[in-house]
Amino acid sequence: MLKLAIQKSGRLHDDSMRLLKECGINISNGANKLKTEASNFPLQVFFLRDDDIPQYVEDAVADIGVVGENVVYEKNKSVEIVERLGFGKCRLSIAVVRGEQYTGVQSLQGRKIATSYPFLTRQFLSKNHVQAEIHEISGSVEIAPGIGLADAICDLVSSGSTLLTNGLKEVETILHSEAVLIRHKSFDDIQVGLLNKLLFRIHAVKKASNNKYVLLNAPTDKLDEIISLLPGMKSPTVLPLADKGWSSVHSVLSEDEFWEKIERLKAAGAQGILVVPIEKMIV
Ligand code: ATP
Ligand code: ZN
Repeated sequence: MLKLAIQKSGRLHDDSMRLLKECGINISNGANKLKTEASNFPLQVFFLRDDDIPQYVEDAVADIGVVGENVVYEKNKSVEIVERLGFGKCRLSIAVVRGEQYTGVQSLQGRKIATSYPFLTRQFLSKNHVQAEIHEISGSVEIAPGIGLADAICDLVSSGSTLLTNGLKEVETILHSEAVLIRHKSFDDIQVGLLNKLLFRIHAVKKASNNKYVLLNAPTDKLDEIISLLPGMKSPTVLPLADKGWSSVHSVLSEDEFWEKIERLKAAGAQGILVVPIEKMIV
């Protein structure tokens, strides 16, 4: 049995639950319980505050956990990152009052910085040879300058709209973060086997979400050019259409190259392009 810790409620909860579901793991709705067990995988799920997850995993109370890298590095526990999960993306940044002149890290010298990330903030300042006073607060950091508690903040940012509404501007990025899967360092062979089984599924889900299944009609005399644009898992599938001069071509395209490829396919004469999401992809 593998014990997994995920966030009880908050920004990572829904995506963590969705990942399990997409991996085909059934969890009864346990959000108001402390723990629950999967019905079709040897997995127990603990619902915890994200800040506590690295400690629980280090102590092997949980074997694995889903948590933001920002928390992993801030807590600095002895755990290993096994997989980046692609959700919960944000950055840890320093922001100052918008109207204030900022010419570089040295502008923070002697200032007061409010943050929930004292460890990472200190590390950044000392790396840049800046002495500043760190004021640790646990929430609503963005209001600290407005109420006279601090001159600057170091906090998580995604769109930046919270900074904007609080009259702040982002001046330094300390860390880019996303949700990761962590494990402790004393796995036995059974746990390694179970983790690999879970990772196999996570890889299939991640790969699928980065790819689309594309079906299109191609004039048969343009087939070579169109096929050369498509990667496919081996090579694209080509089927004749009832109309002799046309073929149907099926292939897989990755998200990054998707728009560019679609334009080139159209230019090469492809028509009736259908794009379908892929649920799992095993290569
Ligand atoms: P808990 O009650 O579990 O302690 P919390 O309030 O500390 O929750 P949340 O605000 O739910 O935490 O954020 C959880 C994680 O989501 C963060 O640690 C970070 O990794 C990620 N995240 C993504 N975008 C943002 C954002 N814009 N602001 C804050 N966190 C973000
Ligand atoms: Zn937290």
